[in-house]
Amino acid sequence: MVTFKPTPRDNGLAAWACHAGASRGRRRPEPPAPTRSDFQRDRDRIVHSSAFRRLVYKTQVFLNHEGDLFRTRLTHSLEVAQLARSMAYSLGLNEDLVEAIALAHDLGHTPFGHAGQDALDACMANHGGFEHNLQSLRVVDKLEQRYPNWDGLNLCFETREGILKRCPLPQAEAWEAEDPRGVGHRFVAGLQPSLEAQLTNLADEIAYNAHDIDDGVRSGLLTLEMLNEVALFRRFRQETLSDHPDLATLHPRRLLAEIIRRMLSAQVYDVIANTQRCLAQDNPTSVDAVRHLPPLVGFSGEMKRSSAELKRFLYRALYRHPQVSATTDAAKQVVGELFDAYRDRPSELPADYARSSDPMRALADYIAGMTDRFAIREHQRLTGKRVFPD
Ligand code: MG
Repeated sequence: MVTFKPTPRDNGLAAWACHAGASRGRRRPEPPAPTRSDFQRDRDRIVHSSAFRRLVYKTQVFLNHEGDLFRTRLTHSLEVAQLARSMAYSLGLNEDLVEAIALAHDLGHTPFGHAGQDALDACMANHGGFEHNLQSLRVVDKLEQRYPNWDGLNLCFETREGILKRCPLPQAEAWEAEDPRGVGHRFVAGLQPSLEAQLTNLADEIAYNAHDIDDGVRSGLLTLEMLNEVALFRRFRQETLSDHPDLATLHPRRLLAEIIRRMLSAQVYDVIANTQRCLAQDNPTSVDAVRHLPPLVGFSGEMKRSSAELKRFLYRALYRHPQVSATTDAAKQVVGELFDAYRDRPSELPADYARSSDPMRALADYIAGMTDRFAIREHQRLTGKRVFPD
């Protein structure tokens, strides 16, 4: 018989952290695993899920087939996990829990990133809409089918709470009615999630702001000159060039990597210092105390302004770039026409989706689960149209 030995990290958790031994548990009780904590077990279940494997072929900003080196949902999720873990360690938070939340946070994303979500939401306008945060929870609660006696992965409350970053109030109220004090409760009661959830949320933002610069420059849509209008970038570009003056001409890729590395470090240290300040001030003695306080994880005021400026720049110069918008329009067309095609010919759906008592929701689940390339193939098969070049 193997006995569970707590890792040194478990012993080093602060009072405000989520302790695996004090978890609010799973919806269906299970005996503890002999060698892993409950949050480690959640992370492992997520890594072994089908939805997790599909992330590798789902768009972050650039479509999967546009280049092999661009981020996908999978590599994005791994970067979020890395950032969240390294910040969690310094804050005495549970690294296993932030890792589980980070790896699962984007499981509900449709193919083609936000364009796919917007198109699917429009298709579902009269059937309850579509939102990727809700869908991520739905994937781990219901759609994964890997256990003999229940749907979903049966994850711990704390992991599910972290995955549900946002939730419209009517949905939260409906959940609260059927599952009082469950994951909908905080949206109804105006409470905060755990610090691990707050931290992973911020790590997501830090990760995509950084890697979208990298991918944007790699794609040729952004240049270092354009990025110079962003104060945070300018500051670390000047700093890097004064330390390594020849990088600009000899190694522009190394220059960019070093600027991004310094930007990331500055943001990570800022979050840690500012959050430590907030924690010292409010000194929560339990996760429950955390839930009743204002958000405690965050940037300093100055870094918040810098991050907002960077985000505005990326929005304008990259996400709204005509070349990105062209693929966005094509992606919306694929998702919209796929939806119509399956709705009109449900026999084209796999049997368990076609049998559902809620056919529109089952259709949204099926399309949301698709990878970019599967959606493109299915669209071509059902409509005869070729929207994306090979
Ligand atoms: Mg994300």
